[in-house]
Amino acid sequence: MNAEELRKLPAVSRLLELPEARALIAQHGHTRVTEALRIALHAARQAIRSGDVAPSPDRLLANAAQHLFVALAPSLVPVINASGVIIHTNLGRAPLSERARHAAARVAAGYCNLEYDLTTGERGSRYVHAARLLKQLTGAEDALVVNNNAAAVLLVLSALARDREVLISRSQLVEIGGGFRIPDVMRQSGARLVEVGTTNRTYVHDYAEALHPANTALILRVHHSNFILSGFVHEPSLQELVALGEEHGIPVVDDLGSGSLLDTQQFGLAHEPTIQESLAAGAALVTASGDKLLGGPQAGLILGKAELIARLRRHPLARALRVDKTTLAALEATLRSYLEGRALEELPVWRMIAAQPETLRRRVQRWQRRLHAWGVKNTTVIPTQATVGGGSLPGQQLPSWALALASPSPDRLARHLRQPPQGRTPVIARIEEGYVLLDARTVLPEQDGELLVTLHLALSDVPPGSGTN
Ligand SMILES: *Cc1c(COP(=O)(O)O)cnc(C)c1O
Repeated sequence: MNAEELRKLPAVSRLLELPEARALIAQHGHTRVTEALRIALHAARQAIRSGDVAPSPDRLLANAAQHLFVALAPSLVPVINASGVIIHTNLGRAPLSERARHAAARVAAGYCNLEYDLTTGERGSRYVHAARLLKQLTGAEDALVVNNNAAAVLLVLSALARDREVLISRSQLVEIGGGFRIPDVMRQSGARLVEVGTTNRTYVHDYAEALHPANTALILRVHHSNFILSGFVHEPSLQELVALGEEHGIPVVDDLGSGSLLDTQQFGLAHEPTIQESLAAGAALVTASGDKLLGGPQAGLILGKAELIARLRRHPLARALRVDKTTLAALEATLRSYLEGRALEELPVWRMIAAQPETLRRRVQRWQRRLHAWGVKNTTVIPTQATVGGGSLPGQQLPSWALALASPSPDRLARHLRQPPQGRTPVIARIEEGYVLLDARTVLPEQDGELLVTLHLALSDVPPGSGTN
């Protein structure tokens, strides 16, 4: 009986002559369609061996078309962040502002004066582009933009401290995430790490005792990023370190990580150190990420003394760590929002931080009403706590609101939200106390419609009362 069914399967050459196959060939080419049909036939043979009947030629073609579609589907796709973590590294950190997106698209579409001086008609430097705005915003003597903050720290240490010593407090030997560990980066740069103080308490005299002007290249301060130092603790202020450094001619480098340009205290959060403050306190160089609280594209910003920045720019690693034209365009547009005092309205990260809980509550209520009209009734509007993320403000929370979905299998529902039918946008939720939560603070308002479509599809896919996972 199996043999009979197997014989019913058409040859690839027959399938290739069907009109639907011709349409596929016009789109994907003969070779790829032939390959996809072979795969469809192979799958059909296996299904027949385990008892199925032979599929129709139409079915085989549809399977081949599906195979071609999946093979061509992009791997990197937009998602809706309903997790309540604003700067979510796994979800691509800061969403770009409309201005930044346009600026990047404009230079991406054609040529630009990336390294071309339009006044002289001669070779220019890509380093001038965002630097002017960074200097204007922060008062830095000069600035350099590299691939990310990890690259910034690596370049600073490689160019200024290779084969020499860098003093750092034991409380700041942090792992930032994704395996980025400060001690590893120091080793990689060829700088010698000199740990001072203890895990919980480090004083300026600990630095003074370890400092040897002949060997010491830098004093490095690193933001704790994602943990809180509390209890019986002490660290010297940046001013104290700068005073010590100046006494011996040793520059102080401040790795701020997130590096805000705005004061987070105006939103009821703790104070996140700003780039301007570090420079004003006398840091010779400050490093920060472009896509954390700055709210721009992935980049590493190095700001500070012109003479040191010039040395970094000349270092061979600078070439390996440089950024492309779209990054520079998006960064410039982001910085312009700050210069014009429009960061809170224009930059998604700041709009999310500044959103009023009452506004969020009303939005979640609208979600609930729409779903209710579609027949989804088991939802609740609940207060939650969102976080800033991105290695800034650890332990700090922002009051928020979420739609809570009751489900016999929250894991399964969360999976359906992550993997909606083709063409729909995946939604990243979080599970808390058996509920699937969709936090409004991190969902871009223009994504509300798409969120509800994915939600509705996922909820209609989970039969009520199904407890299996
Ligand atoms: C995030 C962070 C880094 C790494 O920055 P990337 O832009 O992710 O490379 C380095 N140092 C600190 C303190 C950070 O918080």
